[in-house]
Amino acid sequence: MLSAIRGLKALIFPESKGCPLCGRQGAPHQICRFCLQMWADLAEGLVPCTKCGRFHAGQEGKMICWECREDEQPYIISRAVAPFEGPVREAVHYFKFCGRRGLAYPFGELMASLVVQLFPFRSFGAVVPVPLHIGRLRERGYNQAALLAEVIAGILKIPLQEEALLRVRETPSQTSLSRQEREENMKGAFIAGKEALLLQGKRVLLVDDVYTTGATVKECCRVLASAGVGELYVVALAAGIVKDKNPKEV
Ligand SMILES: [Zn+2]
Ligand SMILES: [Zn+2]
Repeated sequence: MLSAIRGLKALIFPESKGCPLCGRQGAPHQICRFCLQMWADLAEGLVPCTKCGRFHAGQEGKMICWECREDEQPYIISRAVAPFEGPVREAVHYFKFCGRRGLAYPFGELMASLVVQLFPFRSFGAVVPVPLHIGRLRERGYNQAALLAEVIAGILKIPLQEEALLRVRETPSQTSLSRQEREENMKGAFIAGKEALLLQGKRVLLVDDVYTTGATVKECCRVLASAGVGELYVVALAAGIVKDKNPKEV
């Protein structure tokens, strides 16, 4: 019920009048401390995998999930601001499907802070968003990952290369597929655009809204790597929770 009310508020409250998620008065365009606390509470008792950034049960310490132990990832590190659950899931839903594109600013700010905190000594040659297929873009009117990438690039003063990756094939829903099938399903969905030529040998920050199975991000990284990009880092607003009974300390 509470979450339904919050949801309704998120649709009703004009973004200029306080917290864009709950409408509480405060600095305009900034997520209030109550909402941020709710997001922090979601991560209570969870730690991110040191490689993919998905969350799993655990306390402090560096852990690596079973999937990253089994497979090599085509990026150096991926990280997300919060677990993709409860209020974060709702907020992403408003951002993606309810036309709330203004949420890109506070979300992008949180992601930029995470990048600064995690990769303080890395200098990035470009920020690249995970692209949407043109059909989906027409339907939605905007690519949420591109909006986030634009904000992050602006804050961190890194060039935005929106056309470095192009999505040439829409992919059917992935939810019922196994891990291998999902990766198979993504093959050929992206190609490198001509801007990718500018990124050869450079370190690139790939941006997506949610990291769930990682199949999309991994395919994007593979395409960028084969176009000559030097090193890939990934940042997302939210990441899934991995059920891993035995994450390994590293
Ligand atoms: Zn709030
Ligand atoms: Zn992992």
